[in-house]
Amino acid sequence: MEEWRGWRKISYESELDHLFVNEIASIPGGDKLFACIQCGTCSGMCPLTPYMDYTPRQIIAMIRAGLRWEVLSCYTTWLCASCYSCTVECPKEIKLTDIMYAVKRMAIKQGVYPKKFPIPILANEFFKSVEDSGRSSEGRLILKLFLKTNPLKLLWQTGLGLRLFLKGRFSLKKEAIHRKNELKCMIKALETEHMVKSREELGLVKETSI
Ligand code: SF4
Ligand code: SF4
Repeated sequence: MEEWRGWRKISYESELDHLFVNEIASIPGGDKLFACIQCGTCSGMCPLTPYMDYTPRQIIAMIRAGLRWEVLSCYTTWLCASCYSCTVECPKEIKLTDIMYAVKRMAIKQGVYPKKFPIPILANEFFKSVEDSGRSSEGRLILKLFLKTNPLKLLWQTGLGLRLFLKGRFSLKKEAIHRKNELKCMIKALETEHMVKSREELGLVKETSI
């Protein structure tokens, strides 16, 4: 995985996005990231650090520096196994795991994630399926994952898929909950509320004076 480190480059002040840190800090408890002392405990605790392109400590430093694109397009967040070791051991009680999730959500929303890398594709397709029908239809999810990452692998798995299908263990049927429109409204309302809150915290919503 060493080749991932290849596209590091020098960043100039004019390229930094200083609003990025506020967007990440707007998650519940996210403002604690300003208290990071760069001790590296999180990176030392993380079992996935050897495989990451940036360590958890570097991710916090990069968020604070305003390296939006580098953070959103990195592999680190997608390799995070959500084990919470970093969060538990951080001396400043920074919710690193939640920050990893916030970065992933933002990367999906802005379409800035490692293309062809299965984990973000799977997460994105899973979310779209649940948002659309309230359920994740596994057969369709796997099919989309292969088609968007490595269609050739689909050919290798055809035999297995067929055997599972004949035994009734695999289906491409789309499952859906009743009243799925109500779920869509709830998700939309939550997104709108979060957007307004973030804009307020970023100072983008001006107070109206009477
Ligand atoms: S353990 Fe906490 S304070 Fe230390 S580098 Fe990681 S996030 Fe920062
Ligand atoms: S939660 Fe993620 S970043 Fe934190 S220690 Fe576990 S794998 Fe590493």
